[in-house]
Order: sequence, then structure tokens, then C-alpha cells
Amino acid sequence: MDTKFTWSTTQKGEKALLYKNYLYRLRRENQNGSLIYVCTNKSCPRVITLKNDAIIQCDVTRYNHDPRHTEDAQTVFTGLKRRVITDVDQSIGEIYEEEVKKFRRANLIDI
Ligand SMILES: [Zn+2]
Repeated sequence: MDTKFTWSTTQKGEKALLYKNYLYRLRRENQNGSLIYVCTNKSCPRVITLKNDAIIQCDVTRYNHDPRHTEDAQTVFTGLKRRVITDVDQSIGEIYEEEVKKFRRANLIDI
């Protein structure tokens, strides 16, 4: 199981988990301290279980996905990479915020 992931944000600015180019948002916290993340695509059944910032379980068997998410997530990060190279005077944090805002304005979908 591939357990590599990065942190990202949803369109609403919530912390989200980016795993294999798909965004997952926190649904609930279990009593044992593990966190349940669900895909931001409402029709997608994928669930990831996280504990101590590590993926301990991910359901990738039920695959049913709108690939739009993949493209959108990549749009942000491609833009980010380009800006980091060209805008050397701006901090990466500022560039990231700008790119995310730009992305949110251009896309009204809920990711
Ligand atoms: Zn999904």
C-alpha cells in the first residue's frame, strides 16, 4: 500500500489530504484517535484512515471517480511550481495563497 500523501486545502480553506492526486477531507475522528478522511467528490466512496499523521488504511478497491478532481488539483500545483520559479522575491507561502485564491475564483466546483 502506498501511504505517501501531502497536506492541501479544499476550496473552502479546510485542511485536506492529497493522496494520489485526489483530495480527501476530514469526516470524523474515531475514539481510538484515528481520523476518517473521505474523498471530496461526493459520489466517490473512497475513504482513508489516518493515525498519527500516517495512512493506516485506504479503501482503493471501490473505484468510482470523476477525474475532474485530478485535473483541478494538478492545475493548482502546476501553477504553483511555475510561480515559484519565476517569482523569486515572493515567499512560497504568499505564492501558494495567491494561486489557491486564483484557483477558487476560476472554479466554482466544490473540491
Ligand atoms: Zn475520489
